Parts: sequence; structure tokens; C-alpha cells
Amino acid sequence: MTTITDLEAPEARDVRRLAEELEIRTGAWIDGAYAEAASSETFAKINPATGVEIAQVAAGDTEDVDRAVRGARAAFESGVWSRSAPRQRKKVLTRFAALIEDHADELALLETIDMGKPIRDARRVDVPLAAQCIAYYGEAVDKVYDEVAPTDPSAVVMIRREPLGVVGAVVPWNFPLMMASWKIGPALATGNSVVLKPAEQSPLTALRVAELGAEAGLPDGVLQVVPGFGETAGQAIGRHPDVDMITFTGSTEVGKLFLRYSGESNMKRVALECGGKSPHVVLEDCGDLEAAAQAVAWGVFYNQGEVCNAGSRLLVHESVREALLERVVAVAGKIRPGDPLDPKTRMGAIVDDRQLERVLGYIETGRSEGAELHLGGSRVLEETGGYFVEPTIFDAVSNEMTIAREEIFGPVLSTISFTDDAEALAIANDTIYGLAAAVWTSDVTKAHRWGRDLRAGVVWVNTFDAGDITSPFGGFKQSGFGRDKSIHALEKFTDLKAIWINVG
Ligand code: NDP
Repeated sequence: MTTITDLEAPEARDVRRLAEELEIRTGAWIDGAYAEAASSETFAKINPATGVEIAQVAAGDTEDVDRAVRGARAAFESGVWSRSAPRQRKKVLTRFAALIEDHADELALLETIDMGKPIRDARRVDVPLAAQCIAYYGEAVDKVYDEVAPTDPSAVVMIRREPLGVVGAVVPWNFPLMMASWKIGPALATGNSVVLKPAEQSPLTALRVAELGAEAGLPDGVLQVVPGFGETAGQAIGRHPDVDMITFTGSTEVGKLFLRYSGESNMKRVALECGGKSPHVVLEDCGDLEAAAQAVAWGVFYNQGEVCNAGSRLLVHESVREALLERVVAVAGKIRPGDPLDPKTRMGAIVDDRQLERVLGYIETGRSEGAELHLGGSRVLEETGGYFVEPTIFDAVSNEMTIAREEIFGPVLSTISFTDDAEALAIANDTIYGLAAAVWTSDVTKAHRWGRDLRAGVVWVNTFDAGDITSPFGGFKQSGFGRDKSIHALEKFTDLKAIWINVG
């Protein structure tokens, strides 16, 4: 395995220089400064590519969350941000986005050593898209108008959108900076204060970005970051009586907990993005098998398969199954796990040892339930101390098997073949999830019909995982509710108020 010290490419030399200079922020960010946890407790941050500890991070708990919420509430009530002119918020958020871009190399490096994704992806995808997201909401906010209701002329009824107050954002470890930006961009743009809890596996970029937000001009208290564990800090945010809304991305299991926390506390609003088991359907008339194979492979192996909308169920017409799988295996051959800090690496490390065991456990279950292991299936590069799993493909999977039903969150593809389109549609929709789905066909009528009939928040036709900040993202069924991205995300961070003025 290549290490960062023996890489020759100029880009790799940059990574090495940056790694030597890297400063890691480890405190909670509360009221404009880094702070230890009230308990002084910390937790170890392990680099998943080496198994080596890289930092001890403040383990925030109820007291820290309480302090962060109090500061966020005080900032909100003061009006310093919540009642500032939209144009002023635009100015700060645009600067914030520019600072993220200016620190792209540093943030990409932090993301990579924190959660194991290839530096190439962190630098080219995660950081630029996070900056783009913050800028988009900054730019949008002074272009949205309120409304006047068409009542009779004796009244003027203004329908205003107002910020909710304090928003709790709890995010996962697969795209730490990007998920945080999907929450804080629209929440801040609409005037809310935010208390962000990154996942325990990936707190580093959130902590650094909070400081950049302050440098951009976010007033103290408007963006607080409390690292810590889900059961403690996450639950404290979910149950806090002075948090007005939760915006969450993560597992369905924890999403349901947030609904319970809300019901047992102050009935705060909850928006959930809870992952999926997305069907990737290749019909007999798929026009371009090579393109479909590329999409199928990258659709499940990108980001080590740790993607909520991963196309983890391949539904393929029996007549093209062999030809497609042959091509998918060829593409997978180029996605070998390697050192995430090597700019040439296309697949990094699984986020931690627990997730590694989970992924390997699902592979074992697939075998024992009778699926045929077609490719991979093993942990690799064990000598590095890191948590790497090779691209894995199962064939002869039935939709009843565990590997076709549960979210694995690893590089594991389950192949189910069919001979009848109606049967394929039923299988595609036979899941508790409904985040995303895709279909490959050269028949325009079928494309429209499948677009209509697949039960998912995002349906791709003849592509996979295409996205844009202008396009809403979120799920049907137990993939959650509420949408991230696009102008619609502004709605969930605001409330409607009708102000009725009697004009006789
Ligand atoms: P979780 O759903 O547990 O984590 C998501 C976020 O919720 C993290 O910030 C986590 O904090 C927090 N959290 C965890 N438990 C609680 C709790 N009891 N109360 C409040 N907040 C909590 O995902 P995991 O990391 O455990 O991963 C398990 C599985 O979840 C994965 O294998 C995958 O299937 C799925 N998942 C789906 C994601 C998606 O985007 N759809 C993202 C991540 C995971 P902390 O990490 O600090 O405990």
C-alpha cells in the first residue's frame, strides 16, 4: 500500500505538506470559542485507514448541549442574525462559502483522516459541494417574497415566513461536511440559530467550519457545534425543551428515536433523512449496457458504499444479466481499496471497526442465506491496521434475503434477476425504504411509466446518483420526510404566520 511519504505526484506532495502542518480542532464550538466539555471528558478519534488515534475530542453531554442551546436562543432572541436584513445574511453566507473554498485542501484532508474517504473525493466533491450549498442558500434568501392572502378588501392578510428559532442538526459520518452544509445552509439563511452535532466518527470538519463561519461574520451563538455521542449529546438535543426543530440524517432506527424524543418533550418539528435500499433496475431494452455497468458499480461502491441512496439492489433482466455483470465486475476491478491519502485511490476505508464488522457480518449472512458470492467478500489491507473491504457482488439474491432488505452501508451489491417488468417493479417497491431508485431503458414511454411508478423521493432514468443543489433530496416511506437541498428546503426551517390587518 502506498503511503503519503512515498508518493511522487505533485498533488500527493501537497497532501503530505498539508498533513505535516495540519492543526486539529478538538473542542466544542460554543458562543464563538472552543471549549472543553463541562465534564472534561474526551473521546478518541481514530483514523480508519490506519487504526491510529489522531485526536482526543471533547465529549459533549447534556450540560454542554444545554449551554449551546442557551447561547443559540440568546442569539436568536437578540435579533442580531434572526432579524438582520436578508441581504446581510447573504453577505455573511457568501463569505462563509468562500472561506470553505479557500480552505478546501485543509478541510478535505480533515475529512479523509476522519472518516476514511479518498482525498480525491473529499477535495473534488465534498468540500466544493458544501461551499456551493452554503452559497446557494445565501444567494437565495434575498429573492424569496412573502405573500398577501386574496381576502376581501376589508383586510390585508400578510402571510409571512418566520424562522423557527433554535434548530438542532444531527448528522452522520458518511458525508460529514456535506450533510452539515445541507442543514446549516438553509437553516442559517432563514435566520435560525443552529446547534450541530456531528457523528462521533467524524467531528473534525464541523469543528473547523464553525470557526470559519465566525470569521465570515456569523454572530456568536448562531452556529454552535457540540461533538459527542448519539445516546448522550444527540439525545440531549432531541429532548431539549428549547430546541424548536430537529433536522437529522442517519439510520431509520435513530430517526424513529427523534420522533419519540419530540413527542416526549416539546413536540419540536422533526425532518428525517434515513437512508434506503435503493433498487437499480436494468430492463431488457437498456440501450447502453456499458454506461449502465459504470453506473451500477459506482452507484454502490462510491464512498465505500457508505451512501444513503446507494444502488445496493441490482434488479436486472435475465436476458442481459450475464453481460451486465461481466461489465460491472470489470469496473469494480478499478475501484480497489487503498490509502485514502493517495490522490489516485478511488475507494477508501470503512469508517470504523464496528461498521467493518457490520459489513462483514452482512456478507456472511448473504452466504449463509444462499446468495452466490460473485466477487470479493473479504476484508483487505489488514496489515495497514485500517478497515478496508473489497467491492463485493452477490448474485442469485432473492428480495426476501437479509442482504436485499437491510441497509448494509458498505460496498456490497445484491443482484436479483427477473423476466417480467411488472414483477421487477413489484420487487423494486417491496422495501420499507423509498429514498431513491433508478431504471435503465431506451423506451421513452417506459421511462415515464417507471418514473411515475417507482416509490422513491428521487428517481433516475438512464443515470445514477446525479444531483444538483437545485434538486430536492429526501425519501418516501421509512426513508424519512422533509427535503434537503433546493429552494424547498427553506420551507422546513420557517413557519407561516398570518398577520390580519383590518382596513375597514
Ligand atoms: P446513526 O443513525 O446511529 O447515526 C447518525 C447520527 O445520529 C449520528 O450523529 C449519531 O451520533 C446520532 N445518534 C446515534 N444514536 C443516537 C441516539 N440514541 N439519539 C440521538 N442521536 C443519536 O448511524 P450509525 O453511525 O450508528 O450507523 C449505523 C447504520 O445506520 C449504518 O450502518 C447505516 O446503515 C445507517 N446510516 C445511515 C445513514 C444515512 O445517511 N442514511 C448515515 C449513517 C448511518 P453518534 O455517531 O455520535 O453516535
